[in-house]
Parts: sequence; C-alpha cells; structure tokens
Amino acid sequence: MTRFADVVETSGRVAATASRREKIEAFAALLRRLEPGELEIVIPFLSGEPRQGRLSVPFAALRSAQAPGGESRLTVQDVDRAFESLKGMRGKGVAQRRATALRELFVRATPSEQDFLARLIIGELRQGALEGVMLDAVAAAADVPAADVRRAATFAGALAPVARAALEAGTAGLRHFSVQVMRPVMPMLAQPAADAQAAMAACGTALVEWKLDGARVQVHKEGAQVKVFTRSLNEVTAALPEVVAAALAAPAQSLILDGEAIALRPDGSPHPFQDTMRRFGRKKDDADTRDGLPLSAFFFDCLLADGHPLVDAPLEARRAALERAVLPENVTPAVRAATGEQAAAFYEDALRRGHEGVMVKSLGSPYEAGRRGGTWLKVKRAHTLDLVVLAVEWGSGRRKGWLSNLHLGARDPAGGGFVMLGKTFKGLTDAMLEWQTREFLARETARDEWIVRVRPELVVEIAFNDIQKSPHYPCGMALRFARVKRYRPDKAATQADTIDTVRRLFESQAGR
Ligand code: AMP
Repeated sequence: MTRFADVVETSGRVAATASRREKIEAFAALLRRLEPGELEIVIPFLSGEPRQGRLSVPFAALRSAQAPGGESRLTVQDVDRAFESLKGMRGKGVAQRRATALRELFVRATPSEQDFLARLIIGELRQGALEGVMLDAVAAAADVPAADVRRAATFAGALAPVARAALEAGTAGLRHFSVQVMRPVMPMLAQPAADAQAAMAACGTALVEWKLDGARVQVHKEGAQVKVFTRSLNEVTAALPEVVAAALAAPAQSLILDGEAIALRPDGSPHPFQDTMRRFGRKKDDADTRDGLPLSAFFFDCLLADGHPLVDAPLEARRAALERAVLPENVTPAVRAATGEQAAAFYEDALRRGHEGVMVKSLGSPYEAGRRGGTWLKVKRAHTLDLVVLAVEWGSGRRKGWLSNLHLGARDPAGGGFVMLGKTFKGLTDAMLEWQTREFLARETARDEWIVRVRPELVVEIAFNDIQKSPHYPCGMALRFARVKRYRPDKAATQADTIDTVRRLFESQAGR
C-alpha cells in the first residue's frame, strides 16, 4: 500500500520546480509505483481535489485539528477512508463529529502531511495548470502518446479511469473511450483565417459550410429522449422545442449532433445574433417568444449515429452519416471545394444571404472535442477602420530600402492623441511602398535603427477580421489579420476612427 507521505513528497517536488518536464517526471514516477485501485485515490490528490469533491469542513475546524504529529504511518487508503466518512456525515452534531474525525486523522499525520491535508481540504492545491501536467504524466507513466490520453480524458470526464486503462492496456486500452449518448463533450473549436483563399491553402480539398451567426447546440438523442446543450455544456432542452423537434424528426434513433440554432426571417436571412440569444436566456419555452422568433436547427456534424461513435472518422464520413441521419432541412448547406475560387464563390453567396461567412473544414480531419485544431477555419466578413500611421519600420528582404511595416493608431478623443493597436505590412503594392516611403520621410520626427517616427497625418483604411485582447498595446486590444486596403488622402487624421469605436466593436465580439 502506498504511503500518504509519498504523495506529499511528490506534490512538494512538483511545486518546487518550475520545469514542466521535471513535474511530469515526478508525477509519472509515483503513478508507476501505485498499486491497483490506488490511481483513483491518488490522481485526484495530486490534482488538488479529493475524489469525494468538496468536504465542507470549516477553516476553524481545520485549525483546531492541527496536532504535534507523529511518525508517518498513513496510507493513501487511510486518508481516502477518512474523507469518505467526513463526506458522509450528516444530521445533528455534525460539526462536532467532523471536528473529532479530523483530529483523529491529523494526529496520525506528520506536520507536512497535515499541511498538505489542510490545503487539499481548503482547495488551495487546485490549479488548472496541474491538469495538463498530470495528463502528460499519465502518458509518460504508461508510455503512450499524450494526445491519446487527452482524447480519452475528454470522453471519460475524469482522468483516473483513463490512467488505469493506459497503464493496464496502453494505447489499445485508450481506444475504448469515446462519446456516449447523453454525456455532452466539449465542442470542437475553429481558428480564424484571413480569407477563403488562405483557408483553402491550409486545408487542401475541403468542405465549405455556411457559418451561421446563431448559437452552438449539441443535441443528444436516444429514442424518444432528447437533450440539448450549449457550447459550454449547459442543458437548454426546455427552451428550444424546435431543436428537440428536429432531433425527433431525424430518422436515426441514437444520435449526437453538433450544430447551430438560429432565428431566421421568412426569407431565410438571419435575425441579429442578439435576437437568437433571447431564446436561450429563457428557463422555459414560452409560446409568445417562440412564435415571434422561431428557431431553425442546422447541424454540421455527427459525433455518433445509431450507436456508432464517429469522432475519429474523417469529416467526409461524418458528413455522409449526418446527411443520412437527419432531415435535409436540418443539414447546414455546404460545398466540397478544391480551389480557392470555389470556396470564395460560396463565401460570397453566404454573405449575400446574410450569413456571417463560411467554415472551411479539412475533409480528412477527425472531430477534435474541446480543441481549437487547425482543421476548422472560420472566414468572416472583414471589418475596416480608418487609422493613422504613427511610425513605420524599414522593410527587409525584397522590401529592403522601403518603409514597410505600419504602426497603426486610433484617435483618442479623451487624451487628444492616438492609441496604437496594431502593425501591418500586408496588402501593400510596390507602388504604395514607393509612395509611402516618400510621404513618411517627409513627415519624419525621429528615428532609430529600425523605426522612423512620423507626424500622425496619414490615414489608411485597414481591413481586419477580429479584435483580440492583447498585452502588447496600452489599450489592451489588437487587430487580427490587419491588412492595408488603401490610403485615404481624402481624410484628415482628425477624421480617423476613434478608440471608442474600436472598443465597442471589441465588446460586441466578446458578447457572443
Ligand atoms: P466564433 O464564435 O467566431 O469563434 O466561431 C465559431 C462558432 O461558429 C462555433 O462555435 C459555432 O457556434 C458557429 N458556427 C456557425 N456555423 C458553423 C459551422 N458550419 N461549423 C462550425 N461552427 C459553426
């Protein structure tokens, strides 16, 4: 039986080093030494939360339990049993009984064990970062790829059973973990791409789907029972009867579907995102809102059909299963595209119909639950801002000798100056490089080896896809995929867009 002191020492060693590799090795060494049945106890200890969950022991009781402490004889089973009994205590005099049980546990523990126990009970050892380390440690201990462990843990919802399978049966043991009906999994996420051409270049032949500006839904169906979950896995079945009806109307009997619920106008164009979200805010379906704002369900992925998990199947096979499993009106419109032009044409058509853009998805890719892999790329309509150039960097390579990379600022009406929020050298033609080099040198105020600072006079129209949080700029935001559309000689710097406009845009994006 493994000594509790062994867990405490390992945890101490992990806390004492900043090296991720050493942390993993320390955890892995302990995992290898454990006896059957101990993984379920020890992994939660090391991750900072006992398997019993929160024990609701008040801080005062912990303090009064501190004892001089003896020689270490506790096993991990002793601690687990003590926690089990603490968790089970109820009724009259429970505080007293808990205090007694705690004291009995603490007298048997050394001072460092007591310290660990106290921190475990308070929840002080819980740290998000440890989960990833533990996952890698399981992989190291079992000598299997970390990606296999991560995948299995996503479906199992806990690491201990995954660790046991990995240590007992290696990769083959991990393959048994998969999606299960009525157990929601974290949805797969997408990465942004600058445009349809760029997305196609990254994907090769791809499925290009409408990107609907609604709300993500994950639907589980087993016979007559249907459950609907949001992107963060909250259950919203009662609020979305149309989505439930779409699942019930589907020919397949057991299903896990990924898709989007959206409020459409009679002509098929979408209502604003905020309107769709009004339907999600309700605890219950209410007929008035439903009649005013009916939802449509568009599914774009099928994780399980008629009992068969499909998460590891390529998208092409999942799409075929989806088309068989649900009614045609509930399948997200898509085309198979081989060239950037085909994808761009479908994108333009999606925009004309009022949709947000397209998703470009690699046809051979599996469903990577909970991950923002590179195989789903979102292409949205670009926004533009008129910004002021504050400084320029000398180009390199082919652009040596030209002023190229622009430092972009938005007007700050409050402070009276400009606030930098991005740089770009994309989109500039040779003629523009030549022109701007001349114009900037005429406005030079200072320079160092790389950068020429200029009077903030020239306004440039910048296209970009998103505004993201950024520690690099004082305003805390940065433009993503910024590129030059054209100079705006017709505009003075006093007419450029303001930082308030940028902030509003950022907040409207963050609101979803
Ligand atoms: P974003 O919220 O801009 O990061 O884009 C990702 C979201 O787009 C997903 O979480 C879905 O809610 C939504 N979405 C709309 N259409 C699709 C689609 N065809 N495939 C995947 N996600 C989609």
